[in-house]
Amino acid sequence: MPDDGPAWTSAPTSLRHLPVVVIGAGPVGLAAAAHLLARGLNPLVLEAGTEIAASVRAWGHVRMFSPWRYNIDPAARALLEADGWREPDPESYPTGAELVVRYLAPLARVPALARAIRTNARVVGVTKAGHDLMRDGNRDDAAFVVQVADHKGDVTEREAAAVIDCSGTWTSPNPAGANGLPAPGERAAAERIAYGIPDVAGTERAAYAGRTTLVIGGGHSAMNAVLDLASLAAAAPDTRILWAFRNPLAAINFGGGAADGLAERGALGARARQLAETGVVTTLAPFLTARIEHTGDGRLAITARDGQVVMADRIIVAAGFRPDLSMLSELRLQLDPAVQSTPALAPLIDPNLHSCGTVRPHGEAELRHPERRVWIAGMKSYGRAPTFLLATGHEQVRSIAAALAGDWVAAREVHLDLPETGVCSTDRVNEGASACCAPAVAPAACCAPQPVAATSCCGAKAEVAVAAPAKTACCG
Ligand SMILES: Cc1cc2nc3c(=O)[nH]c(=O)nc-3n(C[C@H](O)[C@H](O)[C@H](O)COP(=O)(O)OP(=O)(O)OC[C@H]3O[C@@H](n4cnc5c(N)ncnc54)[C@H](O)[C@@H]3O)c2cc1C
Repeated sequence: MPDDGPAWTSAPTSLRHLPVVVIGAGPVGLAAAAHLLARGLNPLVLEAGTEIAASVRAWGHVRMFSPWRYNIDPAARALLEADGWREPDPESYPTGAELVVRYLAPLARVPALARAIRTNARVVGVTKAGHDLMRDGNRDDAAFVVQVADHKGDVTEREAAAVIDCSGTWTSPNPAGANGLPAPGERAAAERIAYGIPDVAGTERAAYAGRTTLVIGGGHSAMNAVLDLASLAAAAPDTRILWAFRNPLAAINFGGGAADGLAERGALGARARQLAETGVVTTLAPFLTARIEHTGDGRLAITARDGQVVMADRIIVAAGFRPDLSMLSELRLQLDPAVQSTPALAPLIDPNLHSCGTVRPHGEAELRHPERRVWIAGMKSYGRAPTFLLATGHEQVRSIAAALAGDWVAAREVHLDLPETGVCSTDRVNEGASACCAPAVAPAACCAPQPVAATSCCGAKAEVAVAAPAKTACCG
């Protein structure tokens, strides 16, 4: 993509009266609005839910693995402080619900921001006025047209000077089927399948207590689900937990434990590993889900590609998420064919190459598309890659807002204060690959000290940190 400075991103004068539409009032969408306001621009935040942060609310019972100090956007903090807000203890760890109650909801109530937010406003399509995907014409100078559906499904159109899509990926989870498509029978069994991290020890307790649940997936979401089920099993003894992984047990990476720069994330992996190793949960590894069938007695029979069959009352699919790009189909996007992020970002986050949570700072330039003045930011910017951190999204939208305001120097100078992740995410596409901050290698190779390749995602400090701890992190 050309690097021709503000000319690339600034809206033509004829469009400057129009708002910058931000899709989604999650943490990154609200941060985007705060940065736009700080730049004197005019945001319009469109949120599908009945309240802001609908997706975070859905995992409100889950404790975050990054402390407050990494979860608050600087422009949002400035707005909140001017409004008399008291910042939570920077070293404590909020749940998703606490993130909403103590930060996002107060932020959305700040009058300047409150005026810019519309809830019950689901974006169903974005295009350019008078242009479909193919038509050139005077495309760059045309306004965006954003189609918005309300809770009744009635569609209205809004014009925009620019669009920042911060709609996340929570609402488009990967299916149980190991091939990327829903397994035969998966849709028909929908009422017994939950995607993500249901509140099994709280609001959903009755459905899981005393039952057998198959958890599919090897990442942090699956670990959270398994740990919650284990605490339920301690109180409701007939509760059984089956945990299906894509790879053999010896190749499974539970993360870095004490070596993880994010201590809570390390502890999560360590606790999950203990459950697997002590037999509290029955691990199925490898288990590639091929078919799901209802049995006569109301249970589910889940068949793996190798013919193995397990019986369960319920399934929790926690196998990652993917971006829903359908609403952007009339825009000229350029996406990596595998990761579904921009091509500039993909090599930094592709879990086939490495698993680091540490990603070099990036901003507007790495997130741009052939279509001018449209960006995908936040969780969705990572496409199918699982290692997104909020602090990354905050820096993305700071840079985008600067570029939209024509402050090219600030847009290009991206900084990121992330913890040194001496070991990396366990939420791997290729779970057998390295836990180290190095290109994927066979697990055995990880047990030996190894050089960090030049293409590694880790910075110098992380490379030093990784050498010793990674031995224990990925080896038994
Ligand atoms: C369980 C869990 C724990 C996590 N823990 C951490 C952590 O500890 N630290 C960390 O840094 N990151 C963490 N993450 C990763 C990430 O930071 C969060 O997912 C974060 O919520 C992403 O913010 P977002 O604003 O990009 O997307 P979301 O929070 O997903 O927000 C997107 C918003 O867009 C709305 N929306 C969706 N579609 C539309 C549409 N078509 N039109 C209008 N609105 C729409 C949604 O309702 C939602 O409100 C965690 C993620 C999960 C799932």
